[in-house]
Amino acid sequence: MPEGSHRFQVGPIGCTVLSDGYYSYPASWFFPNADPAELSRAMASHHLPQDSVLSPYTCLLIETGRHIVLVDTGAGETSRTSGAIQARLDMAGIRPKDVDTVILTHAHADHIGGAIDLCGRPAFPNARYVLSETEWEFWTAARTDLSHLRVPDAAKESISSMARRCLGVLRHQIEPIDRETEIVPGVVAIPAPGHTPGHLAVLIASEGHYLLNLGDAAVHPLHLERPSWQNGFDLAPDRALDTRRRLMDRALADDMHLMAFHFPFPSVGRVAVNNGGWLWTPGW
Ligand SMILES: [Zn+2]
Repeated sequence: MPEGSHRFQVGPIGCTVLSDGYYSYPASWFFPNADPAELSRAMASHHLPQDSVLSPYTCLLIETGRHIVLVDTGAGETSRTSGAIQARLDMAGIRPKDVDTVILTHAHADHIGGAIDLCGRPAFPNARYVLSETEWEFWTAARTDLSHLRVPDAAKESISSMARRCLGVLRHQIEPIDRETEIVPGVVAIPAPGHTPGHLAVLIASEGHYLLNLGDAAVHPLHLERPSWQNGFDLAPDRALDTRRRLMDRALADDMHLMAFHFPFPSVGRVAVNNGGWLWTPGW
């Protein structure tokens, strides 16, 4: 397989995780309420650096035989260390015009930036772009309140302006949904609010096999291990935790594999209940 991609089957449905790149964030943005000494011990026990999180961006290509679906589009050209999705799709033999459906888990720049090309046009010209109606309304409203995010104001500005810009370009191809919805046979979008108001998770289910894409319902395995540790990018942390619990319960009940956009590549694995949280074991 080409570097930065990993293919597996969910029953008859072909899935490929594609690396768009990565970005380095200050650890305090990812874990704003963690006790610094405990955080530093946890990072050390995972052999991770103390002050920063090198966070992967991982999109999901779904090939059902009838449909080609992309879940999230990466960051596009917004940083020097991301924007590889078009090249990864090319290596997988997929042209932009072949993609018939793009599901956007939410409208943060690292997920929606790759949905428009360098000329400011939709990057997947024939696709419908599925997004929660709540998400659309939140980012296109006259005023977008990001005051609850615990990241610097410059980051909030850039999140807001990128969402507006991308949604503006995509407006004629957006298909909003307002509840749990089967997007194509075997692929279901599930409301998973908290990170953003209209955040979605995506379930691929076929012949008793499951992959639940969490999107950004958790952005680091430590958010599963330590449920009280919040993510500074979550607009409503309590709601995000409720969502995380609901998704974990669902995954455990049906013995699902999970995927999370920002987890260590290839970003797939399983969870088990552990000490009031969930332990992440990578692998398919
Ligand atoms: Zn993200």
